Amino acid sequence: MRPIISKIVQSLQPSATMAMAAKARELRAAGNTVYDLSLGEPDFNTPEHICRAANQAMQDGHTHYTPAAGIPELRKAVTDDYKARHGLEYEPTQVVVSSGAKHALHNVFAALLNPGDEVIIPAPYWVSYEAIVQLTGAKPVIVQTTQASNFKLTPQDLRNAITDKTKILLLCSPSNPTGSMYSADELRALADVVIEKDLLVVADEIYERLVYPGHKFASFATLRPELPERTMLINGVSKTYAMTGWRVGWSMTPPNVAKAITSLQSQEVSHPSSISQWAAVAAIAGPQDCVADMLGEFTKRREFVMKRIAEIPGLSCPEMGGAFYAYMNISEHLGRSYGGVKINDSTTWCLELLAQKKVATVMGSAFGTEGYARASFATSMENLEAAFEQIEEFVAK
Ligand code: PMP
Ligand code: GLU
Repeated sequence: MRPIISKIVQSLQPSATMAMAAKARELRAAGNTVYDLSLGEPDFNTPEHICRAANQAMQDGHTHYTPAAGIPELRKAVTDDYKARHGLEYEPTQVVVSSGAKHALHNVFAALLNPGDEVIIPAPYWVSYEAIVQLTGAKPVIVQTTQASNFKLTPQDLRNAITDKTKILLLCSPSNPTGSMYSADELRALADVVIEKDLLVVADEIYERLVYPGHKFASFATLRPELPERTMLINGVSKTYAMTGWRVGWSMTPPNVAKAITSLQSQEVSHPSSISQWAAVAAIAGPQDCVADMLGEFTKRREFVMKRIAEIPGLSCPEMGGAFYAYMNISEHLGRSYGGVKINDSTTWCLELLAQKKVATVMGSAFGTEGYARASFATSMENLEAAFEQIEEFVAK
């Protein structure tokens, strides 16, 4: 028999963020100068003390299997940190450490969803949410938000989307791809609907440490006493400590979910790399100056990117409260020809921007909204300056 791919995997598209980054890499390998604003990955090296902890872990013989849910030291570091910064009381046994937050999300959805269950996902959403939900056989229910409301779901939007099959509301604040952040009051208003309708929430808080001056992050489970028992918190070290390649993220959930995820993970991947887990302990429990330093750099880049987008005719973006993305509204530039090519949608716009000007961004359609392109500013100021010169020339064509 010829190998035929399963229906569920056949329907899967490759991650658009990863695909655009791969295209940028290919062009660079072919000798082009490429301005890559595609991936949301800090350009900084992992701080020295974290790398040293990984070396030390190897020297100390931490090169064997660990418990499936992760090393106790890391699970405790995570709960201590959430308690210190957000006043949330979790037991280390509620933390399951996985190979990145992406894997933690997969674990949570796989542990909770049955085919036919519905998950409400506000759009624009991070590319992998829809695919990860689909992998479980459950149904992603996409709810559009608007730039006018800063891309935030309102309690009425949520009510309108709920059916008797709805099980989970997915929230990402600060948001990838828009950078918008819910205030504590906005989240509380959503939480009241969640409690009334007896839903669960997956709260992806991976950008919670990347919050800009004048904005304040609120951790979802802190907002009502009923929330910890119905919230699945997702976080990780990738963005905060420039540790994308180390693959460490986690979920913090009610105990029965943590137990189920631990069983799942023990059959699936055993656990994330032992060395990366020790490095993550050093990141979370060690000195935090590196976080402030990187945030300082991101703050300067965010100012620059907002200024440049405002200067370029026909482009706009919502103000970013956190994360490191600008979600550029390119709708005024669609329906035009660029260098002889008619561009009607965000995919063609991004592909032509890459082909003609060697600037890599990610099409809004991958995030569930047409008429936008996402530019990551997790890259050097020099790269940003050159990239926006190119974007300005492109749209002026
Ligand atoms: N959630 C969001 C919103 C993200 O942008 C990312 C970025 N990859 C992830 C989760 C996953 O991060 P990682 O797997 O590197 O921990
Ligand atoms: N989260 C980042 C992004 O959106 C990294 C790539 C990915 O995992 O999607 O670009």
